[in-house]
Amino acid sequence: MTFNILIVDDSPVMRSIVRRMLESVHAHGFNCQEAENGQAALDFARSARVDLILTDINMPVMDGEELLRNLETDESLQAIPVIVVSTDKTEGRVQQMMKIGARGYVRKPFMPETLRNEIQRVLGVMR
Ligand SMILES: [Mg+2]
Repeated sequence: MTFNILIVDDSPVMRSIVRRMLESVHAHGFNCQEAENGQAALDFARSARVDLILTDINMPVMDGEELLRNLETDESLQAIPVIVVSTDKTEGRVQQMMKIGARGYVRKPFMPETLRNEIQRVLGVMR
């Protein structure tokens, strides 16, 4: 089974780090796509199947919190699990996103195994 994972971050470097980490811990079974902000992520999710979203918080155009609010109010998208991946040290913003509906949180910087474990916990099905 292939999981379509959408990596949302305004930093191209961070997107490619996350992508390479996912490939290193789980070479098969992940199909990674990237979006540079929340609006691009929303547009993509409305046009293709997305099984999991990994999102940064601070991004131009549309930040991670607004992305999450948009997902949660869209019946066709609200089932997609969201994991927050952020350096944001203000726990308040992460807590707010967990209240809105985020399923998990990984703080940058992180080890590949940390990201993998959080994805496994959220999806509940992978090894
Ligand atoms: Mg950012």
